[in-house]
Amino acid sequence: MSKLTDDLSDCGPDELVLANKILFKYGVVDGFGHVSVRCRDNPDHFWLARNCAPALVGSGDIIRHDLNGDAVGDGNHRLYLERFIHAAVYQRRQDVIAVVHSHSNTLVPFSVSKAQKLVPVWHMAGFLGQEVSVFDTAEKFGKDTDLLITDMDMADAMADCLVESDVVLMRGHGATLCGRTLPEAVYRAIYAELNAQILIQAASLGDFTALTAGECVATVKRISPQIGRAWNLWVREVEPG
Ligand SMILES: [Zn+2]
Repeated sequence: MSKLTDDLSDCGPDELVLANKILFKYGVVDGFGHVSVRCRDNPDHFWLARNCAPALVGSGDIIRHDLNGDAVGDGNHRLYLERFIHAAVYQRRQDVIAVVHSHSNTLVPFSVSKAQKLVPVWHMAGFLGQEVSVFDTAEKFGKDTDLLITDMDMADAMADCLVESDVVLMRGHGATLCGRTLPEAVYRAIYAELNAQILIQAASLGDFTALTAGECVATVKRISPQIGRAWNLWVREVEPG
């Protein structure tokens, strides 16, 4: 059983296995979606599972990748089609330590709605900032793509949306979220989905109030040091026995 910890920066392959299971338990990923963490011994490498369902990821499935999205070392593993998302974000953002890419169900409507932007309406989701931008593959890559990010050109274009934000929606597809620790990225992926659920509920009641820019900053400052409490609970929930 893992030791409960307050040191959220000390995450490697073992914690990545747990993160996969946590994201599945909380409905952020299903058979698809993935999470990565930058390698502590080399910031130009990151850990990401081979091509398999997140809930089934074990320690033997974690593969070292470089910032071109290629596997490092021996082995003939089948890799995720969209691994370039992670490579591009780590290239672009030196401060990012972990990345989640998901097709999180309640986020997708906000990637296609022309009427309602994804905004934070809950103090747990100030990390969204005042409004989440949407990356649209059609703008640069035409109207006939499969919407997936399957090379570095597409991933770089998506990462342009993450220069000043830690979250981007992807039109008709899903979302990519960054964290400065693995638990922070997992937290953000879970709470972005929950905020979207609450936002849809609030909008169904009529007019609603979103967080102000100042509230976004203040809530992030308050909540960030508390993330370890949730992470330790989630780890216990997914560990066997
Ligand atoms: Zn995807």
